[in-house]
Amino acid sequence: MPTVLLIEDDDESRRATSELFSRENWTVLEAGDGEVGIELALKHRPEVILCDLLMPKANGFQVCRAIRQQLQPTKIIVISGRDYGVDRASALEAGADEYLVKPITWDLLSSSINRILPQLPRKPLGGSNGVEFHTPSTRVKMWGVRGSIPVPGPSTVRYGGNTSCVEIRADGEIIVLDAGSGIRSLGMALEREFGERSVKLTLLITHTHWDHIQGLPFFLPVYNQKNEIRVLGYEGARAGLATILAGQMETPFFPVSLRDLPGNIAIEELKEMEFSIGKVQVRSRFANHPGICAGYRLTTSGGSIAFFPDNEPYELLKLQVADRDHTSMGEAREFAENERQKLVEFLSGCDLLILDAQYTDEEYQRHIGWGHGSLSRVVSLALEAKARKLMLFHHDPNHDDKMIDDMVERARLLVVESGAAMEVEAAREGAEVWLAARQEHLIAR
Ligand SMILES: [Zn+2]
Ligand SMILES: [Zn+2]
Repeated sequence: MPTVLLIEDDDESRRATSELFSRENWTVLEAGDGEVGIELALKHRPEVILCDLLMPKANGFQVCRAIRQQLQPTKIIVISGRDYGVDRASALEAGADEYLVKPITWDLLSSSINRILPQLPRKPLGGSNGVEFHTPSTRVKMWGVRGSIPVPGPSTVRYGGNTSCVEIRADGEIIVLDAGSGIRSLGMALEREFGERSVKLTLLITHTHWDHIQGLPFFLPVYNQKNEIRVLGYEGARAGLATILAGQMETPFFPVSLRDLPGNIAIEELKEMEFSIGKVQVRSRFANHPGICAGYRLTTSGGSIAFFPDNEPYELLKLQVADRDHTSMGEAREFAENERQKLVEFLSGCDLLILDAQYTDEEYQRHIGWGHGSLSRVVSLALEAKARKLMLFHHDPNHDDKMIDDMVERARLLVVESGAAMEVEAAREGAEVWLAARQEHLIAR
């Protein structure tokens, strides 16, 4: 378990804080003044240091500066009885990662530690226990279905203009897939539904392209201390998940920083490709899309759902690259076939497939290598995986309602020609799919 060093001259207050950490199985070191604190810090290199501001021998600012110079990875939380803006600013400038005002509770500490050390080992991924809501089965609701950028307006009014966000209610969990602009309406709906009660949910991020995270600063539950939000995703190609999510809320872009949000938000980088959220089993697979982008398959008691909002099938892409680089077409074909086969197995027998179908086949010819799917390739993938229902997702911002209608019709024709019985719909904002006992209904709102 991790180690914390408490530097505080008030014995009673130090003992109380020590108790909080011990209860959570932390190893606790204690120092009664700044000098001893610095000495213990350098000797034991704890993960976290809690430091008071007003102490004999070396004050909290001096302790921060001394430790910051020599121990970069250690996180420092300054604790103070005073809430002066100037103290806070000086502490952060001296090297503190957080500034908390007394009285200190475990809730306050743990959400602060979650912010500064999202990768810290914690109790195993559990569920969002105690959520009180009633769904007769597994319910999937679309809050944002668009790719790339929100496109509200008269031509997108039926399918919707908001970017990627899907809500799943299953086995007592609220699981949200992606935080595109659609998450704003979801947040308002959750606050209405839960009122004074705590909203506990897990947000699974596929990747941090803007259309998949841009709604987070407008998600009401992050502004209320009663709520518990766990954000899960993989480290990006150039920066960690927490860094990227905080980046879009930095001063030039947004007035409230991620660390100042009052909700309890725990950002955790996923390392494993299989994990569970309560009783819901989750498997991940990296998609073919620029940077690090995952797709998820969730197995619930009501059925399974796979979500690949951004994914480009390899077939044509690999052939084009081989042609350009004068490498072997045979090898390219084999690589593409292998990858396709692995994805088919991953999606095999899924009840609901939500897949990137951004382009028509004609458009795709001009967008090979952009990281998105084309209609016929997506339909054939879903057919091969023997999915029960395919939902076309990540609609191109240039596609109006009529265009999406035409794509659904084309996709259904392909299914009929194949002789299979798979259902096809285009994802539509507000639409719900209920999965239960091998029966499902698309319910229009
Ligand atoms: Zn996207
Ligand atoms: Zn993307």
